[in-house]
Amino acid sequence: MAFSAKTRKFLVAFLITAWSIALIYSALHSHPPKFPLKAKRLYHDNRLLMGTFWEVTSPNKQASGIVFSEASSIEQLLSKYIPASEISRLNRLGKLKVSADTFYIIKKSLEYYRQTQGAFDITVAPLVDLWGFTNQNFQEPGADKIRAVLNLVGSDKIILHEKDNVVEFKLPGMKIDLGAIAKGFALDCAVKKLKENNVHSCLINAGGQIYALGDNFGQSWKIAIQGARKPEITGILKLKNKSASTSGNYEQFFLKAGTRYCHIINPKTGYPVNSGITSVTIIDDSGLTADVLSTAVFVLGKDGEKILKNKFPRTRFYIK
Ligand code: AMP
Ligand code: MG
Repeated sequence: MAFSAKTRKFLVAFLITAWSIALIYSALHSHPPKFPLKAKRLYHDNRLLMGTFWEVTSPNKQASGIVFSEASSIEQLLSKYIPASEISRLNRLGKLKVSADTFYIIKKSLEYYRQTQGAFDITVAPLVDLWGFTNQNFQEPGADKIRAVLNLVGSDKIILHEKDNVVEFKLPGMKIDLGAIAKGFALDCAVKKLKENNVHSCLINAGGQIYALGDNFGQSWKIAIQGARKPEITGILKLKNKSASTSGNYEQFFLKAGTRYCHIINPKTGYPVNSGITSVTIIDDSGLTADVLSTAVFVLGKDGEKILKNKFPRTRFYIK
């Protein structure tokens, strides 16, 4: 049978196309498929926010932008290092009408103060200043100074006016520091925003403060736990829709005459915690609770789990 040159060209093109379609079809429908339907790609991004390094990992390219923008607006509200933040203004004025978010976080802090027998106490701010942790000008203050500043400490000296969101300090000179709760709160807010934007898989690490949203292509997110002496890895956590928070005496500290003074202060004594433990990791559904409890248990020491486990039955405690 004879074909014209035009028909021959058409037939060759047709056969090549049909053959390619057949190859692709068989590759996709063979078991297991010869190549995956969707590449397992993860996007990574990082940013310095709230005084720490935030790392975001997600199959969704938009995730990091959502997380960073949420953390940044919370930092603007709650940071004591930003002079125009609501917390800085409250610390200067002693009484302030605040936003709903700021009121909520202070109210939660007072609840945790009661639940942790006063171990978690945002009014430690003047002690954090006195020991030099605010401006990295470390010093060991005399016992008299510590005693004087201790008069300003105690979350029972904060008055909340619920009807108009006003926060008031009972004594002049009082200050608050949300350094042990703000990142956990920011994680929860970021996760809420991610879900609203249909992102259901994301790992956020805010300087050791973690939230694992959903899973990583069907597997739990895996997180290495770092030991007190970097780069030692002491364990691997598998997390799915959980937060993990670690507080330790190796994050921020100074040494004086062989004594280690860390940035977490015992609000009862006025001294940096020296409870014989090096770190506490808390795993909880909420970033806020994990953040608060890791600091509180670090203050309470080895008995921390015993004191808190009935009040927080879903929480996991790792004390070292
Ligand atoms: P974290 O690293 O989450 O344990 O938080 C430690 C930070 O919280 C410190 O740098 C202080 O700003 C603040 N802080 C220190 N001691 C306490 C305490 N007993 N209760 C609440 N906040 C504290
Ligand atoms: Mg904390």
